[in-house]
Amino acid sequence: MSGQKVVIVGGGHAGIELAKRLDPTADVTLVDGKDSFVHTPAAIRAVTDSSLLDKLIIPYKNLLKRGQFVQGWAERIDPDGVVLSDGRKLKSTVTVVATGSSYAAPFKHTPAGLDEFRAISRQAASSLASAKTVAIVGAGPVGAELAGEIAHAYPEKEVHLITDEASLYPMYKPGFGKKLETDFADLGVHLHTGKLVENLQSLKEPYSGTLQLPGGETIDADIVFPAIGAKPQAELLLAVDDVQTAPDGRVMHDGWMRPSKSHPSLFAFGDVLASGDAMTIVSIARQAPCLEKIIKAVLAGKPVESQKPYEGWPLAPILLPLGPKRGASMLPVGKDGMAVGHFLTSRMKGKDLFISKYRKLLGQS
Ligand SMILES: Cc1cc2nc3c(=O)[nH]c(=O)nc-3n(C[C@H](O)[C@H](O)[C@H](O)COP(=O)(O)OP(=O)(O)OC[C@H]3O[C@@H](n4cnc5c(N)ncnc54)[C@H](O)[C@@H]3O)c2cc1C
Repeated sequence: MSGQKVVIVGGGHAGIELAKRLDPTADVTLVDGKDSFVHTPAAIRAVTDSSLLDKLIIPYKNLLKRGQFVQGWAERIDPDGVVLSDGRKLKSTVTVVATGSSYAAPFKHTPAGLDEFRAISRQAASSLASAKTVAIVGAGPVGAELAGEIAHAYPEKEVHLITDEASLYPMYKPGFGKKLETDFADLGVHLHTGKLVENLQSLKEPYSGTLQLPGGETIDADIVFPAIGAKPQAELLLAVDDVQTAPDGRVMHDGWMRPSKSHPSLFAFGDVLASGDAMTIVSIARQAPCLEKIIKAVLAGKPVESQKPYEGWPLAPILLPLGPKRGASMLPVGKDGMAVGHFLTSRMKGKDLFISKYRKLLGQS
């Protein structure tokens, strides 16, 4: 297998995980437009503690032992490689696209670069520090964790968390949502379920304004954080013949994570793939070993069909810290999962947010 080139476009959680797994056996090139990895789960707490930015932005340079990291924006996928925006061509036997997704500021970097990401995060932290009333629209993991972080760091602020869902995380056993509701009550977070915000002014960035809720209710917020989900970045793949998207904008695949019939050695995974999973690192943790096996088989000259097709999580686990000490998790125990509370959630994620794990993976202290 040595000498066969694998080019992975995108150095997010998906790209770095796969690159690391294939590094011992293949000639891996990881491509990203920026020079460092961003550990997004810690970007939420960074809004209350900007010093975390230096820990969650981690250079790629020590990730691979044998392979290489190339900084550049991929512009086109060819059958035999990837063309970058500056004209460089990276030849490949197998190409993997893991271009991921975007998210509202200040939670994720953009093509504008990491200095801009740092500046936007610091600006949000400063606006938050002077705010009295905070509203978060969307109670998915990002919105819920943000409410917990803010209430933990600033107990004096009035924090509102608003969702149009009738209850928190209805896909899990009710015990999970109940644990979170109890924590929000203890933290003094005003939880508004079943309420659609009628006048959300921005889906992209925080702003200050009055939110209108059903029944004439209003919230005057010094800062409103929109947290209503990730948007797939599929443009690179959509320029390839016969690639199609699912209604949520992620690319469809043939069961073996191949998005195009005419490019049999092109794969996609992570947030950009309509895998059946949510757009999470937890999903990547399931997809990466499967794709590793498929690619190793292809490099060994076997048909992909000799490998098991990918099957998503039946019920994905979730770790949802509300600040470093509180929160709840659903562990993959039994058919319906097992809800656990503060102690395990804090130990597994809340304390460190997996920062140490990713710094180690990327060869940094
Ligand atoms: C604030 C926040 C907190 C989160 N917390 C959690 C959590 O606690 N647990 C969890 O399971 N999930 C969490 N998630 C979801 C998780 O971050 C994503 O599922 C995961 O990062 C997706 O990884 P990815 O590699 O598919 O995509 P991305 O992380 O989006 O990475 C894509 C990479 O591709 C690069 N790229 C894009 N286009 C090109 C191009 N043309 N050329 C070169 N490079 C390109 C980008 O620069 C980027 O580095 C969180 C998300 C957010 C926004």
